[in-house]
Amino acid sequence: MSDFIDVPSIYGSHVFGDKEMRERLPRAVYKSLKASMATGKELDPVVADATAAAMKEWAIEKGATHYTHWFQPLTGTTAEKHDSFINPQEGGGVIMELRGKELIKGEPDASSFPSGGIRATFEARGYTVWDITSPAFLYDNGNTQTLCIPTAFCSYTGEALDKKTPLLRSMEAIGKQALRICRLFGDTATQKVIPCVGPEQEYFIVDRQTYLRRKDLIFTGRTLFGAMPPKGQEMEDHYFGAIKERVSNYMKDVDVELWKLGIPAKTEHNEVAPAQHELAPIYNTANVATDENMLVMNVMKKVALRHGLVCLLHEKPFAGVNGSGKHNNWSLVTDTGSNLLNPGKEPQENWQFLLLLAAVMKAVDEHAGLLRVSAANPGNDHRLGANEAPPAVISMFLGEQLTAVVEHIIQGSHESVPSASIMRVGVSTLPFIRRDATDRNRTSPFAFTGNKFEFRMVPSSGCIADANVVLNTIVADALGAFADELEQAEDFDSAMKALVRREMTAHRRIIFNGNGYTEEWLAEAKRRGLPNMRSMVDAIPNLMQRESIELFKRQGVYSEKELLARAGVLCELYAKTVNIEALTMIDMAGKDILPAVIRYTTSLASSVTAVESAGADASVQRELLARVSVLLRQASTALAELRRCQEKAVTLTGMEQARYYHDEVCRAMEILRAPVDHLEMICDSEIWPIPTYGDLLFNV
Ligand code: ADP
Ligand code: MG
Repeated sequence: MSDFIDVPSIYGSHVFGDKEMRERLPRAVYKSLKASMATGKELDPVVADATAAAMKEWAIEKGATHYTHWFQPLTGTTAEKHDSFINPQEGGGVIMELRGKELIKGEPDASSFPSGGIRATFEARGYTVWDITSPAFLYDNGNTQTLCIPTAFCSYTGEALDKKTPLLRSMEAIGKQALRICRLFGDTATQKVIPCVGPEQEYFIVDRQTYLRRKDLIFTGRTLFGAMPPKGQEMEDHYFGAIKERVSNYMKDVDVELWKLGIPAKTEHNEVAPAQHELAPIYNTANVATDENMLVMNVMKKVALRHGLVCLLHEKPFAGVNGSGKHNNWSLVTDTGSNLLNPGKEPQENWQFLLLLAAVMKAVDEHAGLLRVSAANPGNDHRLGANEAPPAVISMFLGEQLTAVVEHIIQGSHESVPSASIMRVGVSTLPFIRRDATDRNRTSPFAFTGNKFEFRMVPSSGCIADANVVLNTIVADALGAFADELEQAEDFDSAMKALVRREMTAHRRIIFNGNGYTEEWLAEAKRRGLPNMRSMVDAIPNLMQRESIELFKRQGVYSEKELLARAGVLCELYAKTVNIEALTMIDMAGKDILPAVIRYTTSLASSVTAVESAGADASVQRELLARVSVLLRQASTALAELRRCQEKAVTLTGMEQARYYHDEVCRAMEILRAPVDHLEMICDSEIWPIPTYGDLLFNV
């Protein structure tokens, strides 16, 4: 029997949201705050003070003693610095206080976060600024509750040092350009266009005790050694399979925590690989969805520990089985409630939609490199292009019906395209269902899925801000160019149709509805001139190109300095990550695995001597000893080579260093892994010093 959970009453109970504001703030304050939220107008100091006081009262009633400005530095995680509410009074004693200016602005030391050189350590001043469009919340950490105020983080000189500032800027950019398009189509009601995002989060769950015996999982989040178990994912029995009890108890706890935080966790299911799962919330505005996804990841990790489990968010925790990603579902919604990416029943007649589609085609085709780098992290290198969803080449899936519409437009045909039809399942007791206009294609990196685009390359452990900054900016730029042209047109209707046709023709090569995993597609993509950037290191230079710098500047999203700083941070992140992996491998191989294998060879050798001196046949032991010794020799040589590469790598810097880690250190790691995995398969399981893939994947 499970306990009854009164979901509506706990939902949002840890959020200082609209309900709390309305109840706790004087009417005039509430109205002024809401106006600032809607228009971005600067907050009146009196309103800030009143809001801060009400927020503090609420937090204290819930058990909080501290507050923190919660932000997203370039590490890709979240950061917080806790301050208590206490304010010592003259004559002793304290009062609990949160002032408006403390709510609005904080000053964490900026020097300890990556900035790509924007902040020198001797001038470490950085500011966090309240993002009033994302609600404050209480984070529950065992017995402590902390009031978290979502903020943006920037330097003394105003440069963005976080992932949120450019996201907010990109949301403004696309909002502004999309509104121009709405006006051109005669829509005067819409005041605001907002990008909305629903990220589906994939993850693995493993047993904590088993995890604790794997240094590679502890230090790097992925296994650096490990042979495939007899069973992998070939039976396809895990995807959507029945969820095991231990995992479903965990998921329930995660849901309750997320619901308290007002995060609408909606869907959960098993994923393709054993021990892999997915959680999807209901979509929200892009910045709130980003904050929520950061919280989802935090909560998933925290709650797992409570269940004796560990949640792995790494993109490729296990070689040989599918990795994890995030599907970033993206659409453009107006403040009047309509989704501009909804094609409606007659897409062929919906020219505003078709214009938006042309803009997305142009954006994705012209800036595929930027999208690719927005999804790049060291973990994703093991996933993208490695024969699993999705490939490293960016293309766009439109489905049958929409592709036909695009083809008709390109050919200037007025013939009508059949619309979504009724599907008969063939069982009379099942209801007829209306077929979606698009079928599913699981291999496409960028797919139109009915009324939104789904960008599927996003890394599972990363912050979704990166991808959405690029998406918003490149589509804003395309819409801006269209609006510039069409606002000058004498005959809007014919100019607009001509533009849609011209742009669809120019960017038709980006559309691909087939299987993205195949070699044929890679060859075809090459013929079409679509870039194939297989690694993060290949992708980073896209940020440094002149066109990229101009694009982000034009849309007011990054200055040149900010953009180049980010490229620098990515190089560093890559180098540091691979370095930790290399050191972990060196440690595990040198201290645990090779010594165990050496002991094993000694016992085999004793066995050979003992058995032969007893006059029996020891040829099996002898053969095994010979095979193990050959592999041991290979592993030992490879270990020495990895050591040499790692020592060289740390002497380099910047792009050259990142490149060396990728080309030389990663290669040396692969060469070491091969004989070790082979040894795992032939050595006595009693002597193997670490849990195997079988122990990790089938043990929950
Ligand atoms: P899937 O079958 O890929 O799981 P779903 O329809 O369940 O697709 O949606 C997946 C995610 O997309 C969810 O987070 C959902 O809230 C989100 N989503 C749905 N509609 C939109 C939209 N208009 N804009 C952005 N995200 C959306
Ligand atoms: Mg999906």
